[in-house]
Amino acid sequence: MERKNAWKTYTDQDKESLEELCEDYKEFLSECKTERLATKRAIEMAQDAGYASLKEAIAAGRTLKPGDKVWIDNYGKAVMLVQIGTNDIVAGVNILGAHIDSPRLDLKQNPLYEASDFVLLDTHYYGGIKNYQWVALPLALKGVVAKKDGTVLDISLGDDPADPVFCVTDLLPHLGAEQMKKNGREVVEGESLDVLFGSEPLIIEDTEEASESKSAKKEQTYEEQITSTAQKEAVRAHIMQLLLERFGIEEEDFLSAEIEVVPAGDARDCGLDRSMVIGYGQDDRVCAYTSLVAQLAVESPARTAVCILVDKEEIGSVGATGMTSAFFENTMAEILNLMGQQSNLALRRCLANSSMLSSDVSAAFDPSYASVFEPKNSAYCGRGLVFNKYTGSGGKSGSNDANAEYMAALRKIMDDTGVKYQTAELGRVNAGGGGTIAYIPAKYGMNVIDSGVAVLSMHSPWEVTSKADIYEAYKGYKAFLNA
Ligand code: MN
Ligand code: MN
Repeated sequence: MERKNAWKTYTDQDKESLEELCEDYKEFLSECKTERLATKRAIEMAQDAGYASLKEAIAAGRTLKPGDKVWIDNYGKAVMLVQIGTNDIVAGVNILGAHIDSPRLDLKQNPLYEASDFVLLDTHYYGGIKNYQWVALPLALKGVVAKKDGTVLDISLGDDPADPVFCVTDLLPHLGAEQMKKNGREVVEGESLDVLFGSEPLIIEDTEEASESKSAKKEQTYEEQITSTAQKEAVRAHIMQLLLERFGIEEEDFLSAEIEVVPAGDARDCGLDRSMVIGYGQDDRVCAYTSLVAQLAVESPARTAVCILVDKEEIGSVGATGMTSAFFENTMAEILNLMGQQSNLALRRCLANSSMLSSDVSAAFDPSYASVFEPKNSAYCGRGLVFNKYTGSGGKSGSNDANAEYMAALRKIMDDTGVKYQTAELGRVNAGGGGTIAYIPAKYGMNVIDSGVAVLSMHSPWEVTSKADIYEAYKGYKAFLNA
């Protein structure tokens, strides 16, 4: 049962559409490296496509009718788009779900320290990373600093060509003999993933005045604190001064900050034939973006079309912004309420009658690491949208094993609309495994299956996908919403 390489079927028109989609996708990847940035962009795109704020509709008590389009965000880190269909909503909706968080390094709450005339930022990694992949490459800082006065400052450093970049250092091979004997997990320890942030000391000209203010013992201003810090840790004092001048941030403001350390630089074409995309965070923004664009492209669906992009998948879908939160269910209840369906039973029926593509990336077969794959049941770059009937590890454990009947219905949708697709599981039996958000909405009794795009070097700083798969994913998601 070989699946055909999608490229072999493309007309010039296909290639043109594929390129157009992938140009926009690369721009999205480059600009939206965090869940917050992806949410913000999704809202902008939704508004441009005529989506209105659900929160405003709720406040105004507006009724929703077929054709209406609404968006709602969840703490700016997750977002849901709904286009009301012509069918009775209690008969179910079609849902595209994907996640917009990606593995990275997060700054600790107290990150700043000086050591040997360097200032470093201490981090705690987020999601499943190979520590050794995050050293010796240019890094950017993205996130927010929430101040006590309620203002929230956006931080973005390292992607603008005028910006400096940052890095985690590695040991030179000349002195790496002991390091190279360690197993992969320990080559670079998690606690050693500290970001190099500065090295120039602050020179205080009037030291007399500085020591005077120190001895005065009254409440110091922040500027005075910088001056007194400069006595012992002049590099740290300099960084404190720069943070204050450039961003208005005091050191204590890191206590209420969320700053993510991500690879610096744009997503780019990969390969002499430009057939692939290399970029950070394609797990799972490749599925998030194609789902979002499919949702926006759908014209007048029979079944209500829903696209939900969530946070925290990489750490277990937990928290208020992860898939396990009540955000999805609450939003569906609000939608039904605005359509005159106030009963709890109507909501239960709607959810149970719904269908979902839980869209997340698949491990692409990699000839360099062929031994962990089972060739007949692997996802291949270029062979189209991947359906994973089940995921999990150690005997499908933790997996949402989709129903055969549902898979049959999807085969029909894909074949009828000419979408190239393949089926796969994540590696050989007992080679490892992984999970997605699929099992969470499945608890409502709806049909859910994992689907997505195959990725090489998954969870590394620079992941690779095939443009053909991005294109087929978009087509597949649109076909699903229209079915
Ligand atoms: Mn994922
Ligand atoms: Mn992942």
